[in-house]
Amino acid sequence: MSIETAVVVGAGHAGVELVHSLRKDGFEGRVVLVSAEPEFPYQRPPLSKDFLKGGGTNLLLLKAEALYEKMGIELMRGRHVEEIDRDARLVRLDGGETIGYDRLALATGARNRRPPIPGLDDPVVLELRDLADSRRILERLDGLDRVAVIGAGFIGLEIAAFLAGKGKHVEVVELASRVMARAVSEPISDYFLAHHRGMGTTIRLETGVTEIVHRGDNSVQVVLSDGSAIDAAAVLLAAGVVPNVELAVAAGLEVNDGIVVDEFLRTSDPAIAALGDCASFPCAYLGGDYVRLESVQNANDQARLIAKQWMGAEAPYTALPWFWSHQGEARLQIAGLGLGYDQTVLRGDPAEHKFSVFLYRGGKLIAVESLNASADHMAARKLIEKGTNVPPETAADPATELKKLIVK
Ligand code: FAD
Repeated sequence: MSIETAVVVGAGHAGVELVHSLRKDGFEGRVVLVSAEPEFPYQRPPLSKDFLKGGGTNLLLLKAEALYEKMGIELMRGRHVEEIDRDARLVRLDGGETIGYDRLALATGARNRRPPIPGLDDPVVLELRDLADSRRILERLDGLDRVAVIGAGFIGLEIAAFLAGKGKHVEVVELASRVMARAVSEPISDYFLAHHRGMGTTIRLETGVTEIVHRGDNSVQVVLSDGSAIDAAAVLLAAGVVPNVELAVAAGLEVNDGIVVDEFLRTSDPAIAALGDCASFPCAYLGGDYVRLESVQNANDQARLIAKQWMGAEAPYTALPWFWSHQGEARLQIAGLGLGYDQTVLRGDPAEHKFSVFLYRGGKLIAVESLNASADHMAARKLIEKGTNVPPETAADPATELKKLIVK
């Protein structure tokens, strides 16, 4: 079937890369990109890093504003897709307007998870998912002498590092027994715990927030599961995200945590693809187990694959997952997925603030986490991608030149 109109819902990293890849790959039909956000599409990772540090003056766009028109991409900003009519193959926007499609991609991303904590709706509670959130944090910065952060994941800790760097008193509360537990190995959690404490931040592990009590003077008391409380001028909620799947659910597509896709990133309706933070896909690096990844790499690589597929080149999604996070002076890069690791091997010395952790499962190298060690990361990406198994003693030996192990 020839594709005349491609419609993409959501203009984050995934949606924008998809429409631009389609044009780069030679698609000549109509391309519509519907974006709920009013701004020209921008890069999300800097919102908790350089954008905050730069005081909000350095927004990075995903593509130059002029490129959309130049490439014939109809970018509809500040518009929301309300409904998908799969039988008629059209989407209905807020206001009732409809757009027909031959191929539709759902790149609806994720939104912050809001745990059922009484008092969470208080205006002192801030969060960070989009540009407006980041700007709100900056507007409030002067008054934020004491901040409680709920969640020691990547975003909570990136913001904690920023605030601590500004001389603020920061207390992080985390339910798990270590920081970033969902995504990194124990040695990396240990390093970052010490790193943040070294910046003056208090981190309380295995502790929950039970209530946020407003005190009437623009401050709150954050009541904790151990009966203690934190006095704070603001609370930063960073308790993870939930995928935006409501459109897919209403359209009768299969959903399980994310919008379920096959290895070609097609939903249960072959005319509809899903990608990025909202999609749950069978991962080649997990033996085909389903996973939903929240990373720029995943959004971009999935977008490029779908564009090629819509242009007629059918291939399964097998890109290697990789990720990064900057927290103060600590630059973490992760190649591969460490889920289910049973052995860790240290390369370098954490005391020197430059090292990597090699993660193995059943003797097989599955991931490498590098701290201020980009050369290790770049080599690790190639090694894991090519399935080269680096024996633990070889990985640990500082004399090993990892890039020389890459099979050409
Ligand atoms: P999103 O970027 O969430 O975009 C989805 C878009 O779809 C949103 O604009 C949403 O409003 C819109 N939308 C949803 N529903 C509709 C609808 N019905 N109609 C129209 N539009 C709709 N990743 C990294 O790899 N490294 C990092 O260092 C890193 N740092 C991050 C820091 C922050 C503060 C955040 C929030 C994320 C960070 N991430 C990082 C994660 C990364 O940004 C995401 O994985 C990536 O943005 C996912 O892209 P996406 O296009 O799938 O979704």
